[in-house]
Amino acid sequence: MSLRHEFITTKTNIEAWNRTCYKNKAKIFFPKNLNELLKFKRQLINSKSKYIVKTGNCSYDSKSIPADEKSFVISLKNLNRIIKIDRSKHTILVQSGIKISQLVKTLKENKYKIYCVPGGEKISLGGAISANAIGKDSNSSYGSFGDNVLSLKVLTENNKLINLSRSSKNFKNLIGGFGMNGLIIEAKLKIKKIKSENVNFNTYQFSNIQELTKILNNKNEYNYAQLDPYFRQKNFGVVFSANTSLNKNNYYKKINLNSNFLDKFFFYFASLFVNRFSWKIFYRFFFIIHKRQSKILDLHNFHYSSKYKHMIPLLYSKGIDDYEILIKDNLDIVLKKIIKFLKINKIYCIYIVVKKIFKSKSKYFYSFNDNGYAIALSLKNDKKSLLFYNFLKILIKNYQLSINLAKTDKILLNKKINKSSFMSLYKKKIIKNGKISRKRT
Ligand SMILES: Cc1cc2nc3c(=O)[nH]c(=O)nc-3n(C[C@H](O)[C@H](O)[C@H](O)COP(=O)(O)OP(=O)(O)OC[C@H]3O[C@@H](n4cnc5c(N)ncnc54)[C@H](O)[C@@H]3O)c2cc1C
Repeated sequence: MSLRHEFITTKTNIEAWNRTCYKNKAKIFFPKNLNELLKFKRQLINSKSKYIVKTGNCSYDSKSIPADEKSFVISLKNLNRIIKIDRSKHTILVQSGIKISQLVKTLKENKYKIYCVPGGEKISLGGAISANAIGKDSNSSYGSFGDNVLSLKVLTENNKLINLSRSSKNFKNLIGGFGMNGLIIEAKLKIKKIKSENVNFNTYQFSNIQELTKILNNKNEYNYAQLDPYFRQKNFGVVFSANTSLNKNNYYKKINLNSNFLDKFFFYFASLFVNRFSWKIFYRFFFIIHKRQSKILDLHNFHYSSKYKHMIPLLYSKGIDDYEILIKDNLDIVLKKIIKFLKINKIYCIYIVVKKIFKSKSKYFYSFNDNGYAIALSLKNDKKSLLFYNFLKILIKNYQLSINLAKTDKILLNKKINKSSFMSLYKKKIIKNGKISRKRT
């Protein structure tokens, strides 16, 4: 059924960040304000039309791709206002369409920061709440993004605006709800005063898993490690850490985070030369550059250092599969098994990042409820990735691991792995008939 004429939707081709799912000529609506959104939603209800939210540009697989031609996409890009920074209560009230990277920048200029900052510069606030994102600054008090959130303004399925405080019954359903339990319009977040806009940034090379575990347990404000996908002894991995600096000079460098046609062309062109040999050389240089560094960086530049990370999927025509494996303990055993499997099967990851993760304050709709470690790894979407996926299913069963659903959806198709209620809702609302819609094969 079509909508009345007054709402202009744009027909655009959209795809998941990792390029595994896409939809041509998706009908996108960009409400200019809340009033427009309410009217549009009313019409969707009246015409029994379905919709999905896609505001940011960092979601994986099928999460923000409409399942059929009739469904609409709503982008809250224009609902991006910072309503109030309350300096006495250390809170910020903000609309959900703002990019987290913009929030980090504005807060930094006001000498504040948020917790659990996810790494993509095009992640919206609504997307970070809905995926209950974890950051390289997560800690025992703020384990996942939901722990930052004090209250929410939400548009319900039947178009009612409601305010939810942390103690409200439905609050937890919105955290990690992947858009299935209502549309988040505004959020009040906890913020932390910072001493300066800068951080002391350090890198340090290590050569085995024992060192990795020790380093990840150092008490730094920001901490994560990157491993060599070839696991060469001389550059097994590098840890990146940062702590607030007392240096108050201005170190901010303006970096253009938007890629233009030429940038994209370069990546498509480079894709012709990406193979295990060129990748091996790239990583040799990468680890030489980052072997040991110590410098002061602006906080925003630390989080969002270049646009190129965003363009990695352009190197692979069928996209990439991104897995984040969440481990309660046994990091060394699980990592050894993964390394062995990758080596035997000659699978070369695009990247492997390991960080410490922390139990969330509450049991949200979707959250990781233990302290532990996360291994994030990215693979070219091909037959070997499927091989790894099957291996992962065995690992999950034997070592009680979980998979961060903010990344791959693929794993949801395995019933044994996830809570059945989450699974059935996700299938009903996002994945059609258990098959991911418009999969790029
Ligand atoms: C380069 C990169 C780095 C990343 N780093 C991290 C990281 O460090 N930690 C981490 O945990 N994750 C990370 N992610 C994953 C990312 O946090 C999630 O994919 C996130 O959900 C993306 O949000 P978005 O705004 O880009 O996407 P969107 O497509 O806008 O939204 C993603 C999901 O949230 C729902 N949603 C969005 N807005 C709303 C709203 N207002 N109300 C209700 N539902 C809504 C959508 O329906 C969809 O299901 C990263 C992703 C990329 C690409």
